Amino acid sequence: MEAVLTQADCSPIQDMSNNSPWPTVRQHLELLLGQDVLANWFSKVDIAAVDGGMITLRVPSTFTGEYILSNFSEEIVASCSHSGLKAYGAAYRVAARRPEAGAPEVGAAERKMSVAPTDLRGLKLNTRYTFDSFVAGEANGQACDTARRIARGNFPGLNSLYIYGHVGLGKTHLLNAICWLRKSSFPELKLLLMSGDLFMDQYVRAVTGKRLIEFREQMRSIDLLVVDDIQFIEGRRGTTEELELTFSALASEQKQIVLSGQKPVDAMTGLNPRLKSRLLQGLVIGVGQPSYELRMRILQRKLEDWQAEYPEFVIEPGVLERIARLVTGDIRCLEGALQRLLATASFLHRGTITGELVDHVLSDLTPSAEPVLEIDDIIGTVAEHFGICPRDLRGQSRVRKVVRARQIAIYLSQRMTSRSLMQIGACFKRDRTTVMYSVKRVSSFRQSEEAADRAVRQIESKLRYANRA
Ligand code: ADP
Ligand code: MG
Repeated sequence: MEAVLTQADCSPIQDMSNNSPWPTVRQHLELLLGQDVLANWFSKVDIAAVDGGMITLRVPSTFTGEYILSNFSEEIVASCSHSGLKAYGAAYRVAARRPEAGAPEVGAAERKMSVAPTDLRGLKLNTRYTFDSFVAGEANGQACDTARRIARGNFPGLNSLYIYGHVGLGKTHLLNAICWLRKSSFPELKLLLMSGDLFMDQYVRAVTGKRLIEFREQMRSIDLLVVDDIQFIEGRRGTTEELELTFSALASEQKQIVLSGQKPVDAMTGLNPRLKSRLLQGLVIGVGQPSYELRMRILQRKLEDWQAEYPEFVIEPGVLERIARLVTGDIRCLEGALQRLLATASFLHRGTITGELVDHVLSDLTPSAEPVLEIDDIIGTVAEHFGICPRDLRGQSRVRKVVRARQIAIYLSQRMTSRSLMQIGACFKRDRTTVMYSVKRVSSFRQSEEAADRAVRQIESKLRYANRA
């Protein structure tokens, strides 16, 4: 049973504010989940709407909504069906209790959106994924900054932006944020958010339904096309060709397309070469693993949001540091770990979250299932790329080629490992300031020197896909 959260739905929603079936559903849920769970999680929940087979729950907070859907959606659907409501999936809507500064209001914002032509189905924007809620750092700062500028229309001559990186690093969040900001800055322009597989699905339907010309006309009427997860269409010849045609048609009218995927362009072997070359003509920016500092800032931010709703909880000093050290993978894992911790504390009625509770709840996270990239791997790969000795990268040589390779190795260590600036410095026998300087230097020459940027991207993809395979 699937909890559908993002799929757009065009049919009208039946409002359940009068005559809610919730009490009956709740009764059955209580049988399935027990009184405690009901009291902890469902006391402020109600059914907001039933749309086809989709049940939308009204919940007091995003946290409650996410938790309920990830843990109890099957039971919710079963209880709805048991109570005579046809149900195949559940979604949630946060009750308008505490409007977040700058965040789009659910419902109203959606209604305000100028929608794409009727038959073209896009993804519904996620209200949580805005620039306000995105914490930027070294690993994602360039992507975030560029995304924001595109959304504001500050890059008129640019045809495309491709953001790539592993799962859970914020690509979908950024793509949604672009859409929200673009919508609020230019409400009259048409934008469409899709995923690679949704694009494929609609293209195939258009072909089989002999509606290809109509499909093309509709696609080309979009002012900003945003396509998430294009790795899904790798190897699909017809679809990648169609995307390239759409791309070229939009570009010829100075319209923009923003895409995301899990691999660098060069590594996408199943993509039409013309599409690859178009991507490379635009901006290509990677998002990397968050450093310890960024993980800490993300945790602090998520905790602040949570504490605004649940001020009674106290976090012992050192707890966030412990989580940031323990969870070194992607941001989704980090967010998941914090949610598990807060959910358990709430379930156990613990007012204070201690280090002991962290170790207990997150004990399965060590050792990490992901192979961890270490600074030594980076030094080896950078040295090999530039044909120099790894020892020189740690040494004092001021030869230009070595200095540059060293700066790149430091930059990649900061972006791709979970080491702190101090630890990276120690590895290269340099201080924290030199590490920060190197990171800045590389970020800046990547913008101005195409060859250097290409070299960094090549090393990055070697590290991600060759060394770790
Ligand atoms: P991806 O699309 O790269 O797989 P997502 O955009 O789905 O990753 O991000 C996974 C989760 O982590 C989402 O809940 C998202 O809001 C959160 N997230 C990712 N990056 C950040 C960030 N920089 N600041 C705040 N939250 C983030
Ligand atoms: Mg994604």
